Amino acid sequence: MQKLASLIRAVPDFPTPGIVFRDVTPLLADAGEFARCIALLAEPWRDARVQAVCAIEARGFIFGAALATALGAGFVPLRKPGKLPPPVVAVDYELEYARDRLEAREGALRAGERVLIADDVLATGGTLCAARALVERLGATVLGASVLIELAALPGRARWGNAPLHALLSY
Ligand code: AMP
Repeated sequence: MQKLASLIRAVPDFPTPGIVFRDVTPLLADAGEFARCIALLAEPWRDARVQAVCAIEARGFIFGAALATALGAGFVPLRKPGKLPPPVVAVDYELEYARDRLEAREGALRAGERVLIADDVLATGGTLCAARALVERLGATVLGASVLIELAALPGRARWGNAPLHALLSY
């Protein structure tokens, strides 16, 4: 895990003062460690009969699509507003100082389909919880979530609640 962690760059005061941005691009560029990272993310879900991985634009797509392939599942993108052609289903959610929205293609998931949600970083948990609400609005069943990085000082995990949540690294 140390090698993997060494490939995530901490960038202070980006994109705004006070935020330590976790830059995963050095990890993505390392063929061996990126493959290992996906295998580790998939590990807890091997026997969970995941049918679809839903991931959040944009960095979540990178991990989520690879994870879907590793688990033999389909991939459903959850997108920022205005990117998907209609018809879409949307969920609005609160950010620290603003509102945002996630959209998915209407009919993208079947009723009761077994879904794993993936993202790169769990911070306040607003994004991951909005993703869960959107997947549930589509009628599917959320098994849990996988993230590469959890920021443990923030309330993301508490906000997510009791459903399974796996993080490879915690800061
Ligand atoms: P939140 O909704 O607060 O849990 O924020 C999670 C989303 O914001 C994820 O999709 C991340 O890509 C992004 N994010 C939040 N904090 C960071 C951070 N420190 N470094 C990189 N990405 C972050």
